[in-house]
Amino acid sequence: MKTLKPVDVVIAGGGWTGLLMAQELATRTSLRVVVLERGPSRSILDYMAGMDEVDHVLRYKMMQNIADETITHRHTTKNRAVPVRQYGSFLPGTGTGGSGEHWTGYAYRYMPETFRLASHIRERYDGARLPENLDVRDWGVEWEDMEPDYVRAEKLIGVGGVAGNLRGELNREGNVFEGERSEEFPLPPPKTTRAMDAVIAGARELGWNPYLAPTATLTQSYTNPNGVTRLACEYCGYCSKYGCMIGAKAQPTSVLMPVLDQQENFELRHHAWVRRVLHEEGQATGVLYMDENGEETTQPASIVVLAGFTVPNMRMLMLSEIGAAYDPETGRGTLGRRFTQQTGKHTGGPRIVFDEPLNLFMGAGGLAVKISDFDRDRASEETGTFLRSGNFGYSAGGATPIRGFHAAPSGTTERDWGSEWKKANLEHYDRVISIGGMDAEHLSYLHNYGDLDPTYTDRWGDPLLRLTLDFTEHEVRQSQFTAKVIGKLAKSIADNAKAKLVERPFGIPGNGRYAASHYQTTHLQGGAAMGVDAGDSVVNTHLQHWDVPNLWVVGASAFPQAGSTNPTLSALAVTYRAADAIVDRYLKRPGLVG
Ligand SMILES: Cc1cc2nc3c(=O)[nH]c(=O)nc-3n(C[C@H](O)[C@H](O)[C@H](O)COP(=O)(O)OP(=O)(O)OC[C@H]3O[C@@H](n4cnc5c(N)ncnc54)[C@H](O)[C@@H]3O)c2cc1C
Repeated sequence: MKTLKPVDVVIAGGGWTGLLMAQELATRTSLRVVVLERGPSRSILDYMAGMDEVDHVLRYKMMQNIADETITHRHTTKNRAVPVRQYGSFLPGTGTGGSGEHWTGYAYRYMPETFRLASHIRERYDGARLPENLDVRDWGVEWEDMEPDYVRAEKLIGVGGVAGNLRGELNREGNVFEGERSEEFPLPPPKTTRAMDAVIAGARELGWNPYLAPTATLTQSYTNPNGVTRLACEYCGYCSKYGCMIGAKAQPTSVLMPVLDQQENFELRHHAWVRRVLHEEGQATGVLYMDENGEETTQPASIVVLAGFTVPNMRMLMLSEIGAAYDPETGRGTLGRRFTQQTGKHTGGPRIVFDEPLNLFMGAGGLAVKISDFDRDRASEETGTFLRSGNFGYSAGGATPIRGFHAAPSGTTERDWGSEWKKANLEHYDRVISIGGMDAEHLSYLHNYGDLDPTYTDRWGDPLLRLTLDFTEHEVRQSQFTAKVIGKLAKSIADNAKAKLVERPFGIPGNGRYAASHYQTTHLQGGAAMGVDAGDSVVNTHLQHWDVPNLWVVGASAFPQAGSTNPTLSALAVTYRAADAIVDRYLKRPGLVG
């Protein structure tokens, strides 16, 4: 056991949020900032070695080793939780940049009501038709508070798109259902592929409003406000689950590390696994971590920031015995409460078979046509059977050789093997597309939460996080609705493009139960939720822990429920908010910032 010299700030986790916090503190102050990252060092040079689909997609090269740490899962408190021993519903990263290295690059803002969902639902539904056990909360910030930080985050990573609502003026080239933007996107939208054009035409035929998803894969070469220059995307299609070999996809190694590498007051330590926040009398005194040699090490610090992603943030707080753990029996406690993911997923669904090749191998992670006509309350208005929905569409992510090509739809030949099947696959090669699932809002419920598992432990002997999580009728209806609109869109695209529609039955992953084994999204949120009431949230609206004012818990763990889109831009926006609170307020007057 060794104790190191004190530093000003120690940050647990070197992904998007941890390194953004480090950048802000190291460049705007003279504080000495140390980031502890449990995984290996990564840089763009590693990605230049090649994009091997077997390594990255089938063998999860960039993900955390689940033999070291995983979660346990059960559907209800009546079940015994068991460890998730294979990669399943989410794929957390490790090493410099965390999941931010192998993310896909969609850079969405949340919808304005997401931040005040409890008030919104109360006002709109007046207690009627509310799902049982609903536990949604207002974030304590409003759209107007978040908007300037969204602008900063978009400029930081270089988002391309078209504003659908620029200062109240609607533009059908963008998402007309989004919240009002104060500025246009920093970059223009990406190019479209032939398949995307067909999807846009099919959606317009239905009177819907398709738009190009906001993307952090650069649509032009770009220099951000910190002077970091990156090259434009080449549409090679190796984005999701890969680090970008030219840095065109925003990732912490290409956006934040170039700045941090210049800072003498910054240090990034790898293979440094934080196990506890040390604290005395309501003040954090540092962290206990295992160093690269497996030695227990104490790093004293004046400010501690947890930035390990949703599950590790919750777990580090629980292991450190900071805050009141949620107890579903009594309804007391806040830590671990309001854990959400994202919903609206389906399996199967129709395939659209075109006459000509589509060049599907060209693409980019965030290159997609999206439809938000049913987002916010609009599906609820149409169906009257559930509250909140999301966006869906077609992703031109780049069809890589093994998993990417949608060759002959199953059922095309009598057997899914043999020479007939091989022939059908050659005929269908590069001509088949499908419509992707919905990213819908996952409401928080009293029965979904995280706590420490009483049985299973990680590589250091610390209890794993146990998720008690299941879907309700509300999530099933979201998926059923997704199937309905996807079916409609697929038919319209096929009719319009004179392509063949191959109907295939829809399913819901897990038959409507939460399936830990089925990829959902890595959009885990909540567990250390923010709010204005210390008795009902873990951190305040500046992501400062209510009980330990020199402890900050950043990232999507602070979101009281999931929004209808991908969360990272929102996680970056609240990290800016937290950094401002430290620099502009806490350092001048330590204690809870008002
Ligand atoms: C395949 C995939 C695609 C995705 N696509 C999108 C997308 O298109 N758009 C979007 O918005 N989001 C997407 N996401 C989600 C996105 O990656 C995350 O929202 C984002 O990376 C979260 O940032 P973070 O800093 O909270 O966590 P991360 O970026 O994951 O960083 C957390 C870091 O903390 C480290 N850490 C954890 N525990 C400890 C500990 N105890 N001690 C030391 N270090 C620790 C981890 O190793 C990791 O490096 C995707 C995720 C995946 C896996």
